[in-house]
Amino acid sequence: MIIQCPNCSSETDNWVNKCQKCGFITEVIDGFDVWAPELIGLGSGEFFNPDCFQELAALEDENFWFQARNELILWAIQHYFEKPIHYAEIGCGTGYVLRAVEQVFPETDIVGSELFIEGLKYASQRCRRSKLVQLDARNIPYRNQFNVVGIFDVLEHIDDDLVVLSEIEKSLVSDGGVLITVPQHRWLWSAVDDAACHFRRYSAKEMEEKVKAAGFEVLRSTSFVSLLIPFMVVARLLFRKQASATSAELNINKQLNWIFRKIMALEFKLVQLGFNFSLGGSRLIVGRKKRT
Ligand SMILES: [Zn+2]
Repeated sequence: MIIQCPNCSSETDNWVNKCQKCGFITEVIDGFDVWAPELIGLGSGEFFNPDCFQELAALEDENFWFQARNELILWAIQHYFEKPIHYAEIGCGTGYVLRAVEQVFPETDIVGSELFIEGLKYASQRCRRSKLVQLDARNIPYRNQFNVVGIFDVLEHIDDDLVVLSEIEKSLVSDGGVLITVPQHRWLWSAVDDAACHFRRYSAKEMEEKVKAAGFEVLRSTSFVSLLIPFMVVARLLFRKQASATSAELNINKQLNWIFRKIMALEFKLVQLGFNFSLGGSRLIVGRKKRT
């Protein structure tokens, strides 16, 4: 495995916890390798509020949005890349996606990374065999390693998203793939985005151009949460002034959750058939690293 030292950028295929050039040491905190010690203990509101992990971990299992996104992600990995040998997720949060990847791809070697140790602690309760590490997505130490990298609703938290995409490109083997989900449409911006520390909601054009600029060809680009757009607009009007808009929007009652699940299932069928939605709360992009 080729590691690029996050401190001095020298590469080695024989990394044993320490850079032979500059002396940088990969500490272990709470059982997780730490690649970005300078970012440990960030204040809330930088990139993400780590207090939200608890709220997310409690919500995810029952909520239609997280379930539907998992279905879409797992299908996309299989459809475009079959069974990856080495897989990584950047910004795995509480491990809700990662656990499902572990289950669907029992033979895949998996790395889950997250900036916040708080998130990794939740992920370690859900994931049994993923290697969980703390790192800065703008300075990924892995080189030429993964067949597929996933980054799900993370790029919008990072000012320099293009650097992240370029780091992912370098972490992939030749013709490796990337799966990305991001929130979409500037006009859907609301208190939810403010509370979640988002820098932006993307347009299709912006996302596709950035993915190409980072060295990928776009295999697939579609919106999702498309059929629920009218509900999203109504929810945003209702909760516009609410402080905890995140939980207000995701904590919906059981009946509504069930209906939304059914609507998302229909939408998923259409995406599987090849239909690309132009409008939607989120966008899925599948890219493949260009051969060099
Ligand atoms: Zn070094």
